Amino acid sequence: MFEEQNSGAKTEQKLEQKKAIRGDDTKPVHEWTPERVAELTKLWASGLSASEIGRRLGVTKNSVVGKVRRLNLAMRRQPTTPKPQRKIVTLDSLKANMCSWPEGEPGKEDFRFCGVPAEPGKPYCTDHCAIAYVPNTKKKQSAAA
Ligand SMILES: [Zn+2]
Repeated sequence: MFEEQNSGAKTEQKLEQKKAIRGDDTKPVHEWTPERVAELTKLWASGLSASEIGRRLGVTKNSVVGKVRRLNLAMRRQPTTPKPQRKIVTLDSLKANMCSWPEGEPGKEDFRFCGVPAEPGKPYCTDHCAIAYVPNTKKKQSAAA
C-alpha cells in the first residue's frame, strides 16, 4: 500500500489522455468518425434529405451537405431546382396549340418561338397574351380627346 490515491489519479489521467487520443465517447458528436461517415453515406444513398440526415446524425444540414461534397458522393437531383430545359421552338416545330410569340431576331440563329401551351383559342400563352392584348388605354384616350 503506497500512494494508492496518487497512482490512482495518475492512471485516471492517463486514461483521459488515451481517450482523447483515441477519441472514444469523449469525441464531440459533430465529428465525422468512419462509422458516422458510413451512416451518412448510407442515408444519403437511401435518398433522405440533407436536413433529415442531419437530424438523425445530430448535425446541421449544412454539415451534411459539406461532408457529402467532401466525400464526393454523387450529388442527387435537388428537388428545388426543377428548371425544365425549354426546348427551342422553331417555325418547323411550332404547333397550333403552342404560343407563337417570337423571341430573338428573325433570321438569326437564336430566333425561336415561345412554344409553351397557348391559351385556348389564342395564339399566345397567358404571359404573352397579356403583352399582346394589353388594353391600349392611352391610344383610346388620345383618340377620344
Ligand atoms: Zn408565350
